[in-house]
Amino acid sequence: MNLEGKTCGVCDKGRLHRFTDEISKGVHVDAYKCDYAGHVSYDRNVMEKVEALYRQVAQERHVVKIGSSVAVPIPAGIAKSLNLKPKERVYVTSEDNKIIIHPSPS
Ligand SMILES: [Zn+2]
Repeated sequence: MNLEGKTCGVCDKGRLHRFTDEISKGVHVDAYKCDYAGHVSYDRNVMEKVEALYRQVAQERHVVKIGSSVAVPIPAGIAKSLNLKPKERVYVTSEDNKIIIHPSPS
């Protein structure tokens, strides 16, 4: 299925354009990016592959509300591997529809 030029299903405003997305280190797939807000879409075959891969490498968490913000618990194994401690300062940015948390500014 070719989504090139189709309307973005997330914002309903942008048009989708093909690009190559790196969904995991060294794993590249055909994807489509919204030219309005950068939303990323995959066609159904790729989506199934992406979801299967995420299930292997990622741990699902639910977003919880804290005051006017939301939070996502970081799995213990990831916190440990990055040596993250409670109350430690981190830096949160977003890029390509992903949330990036840096333990130190970089
Ligand atoms: Zn969009």
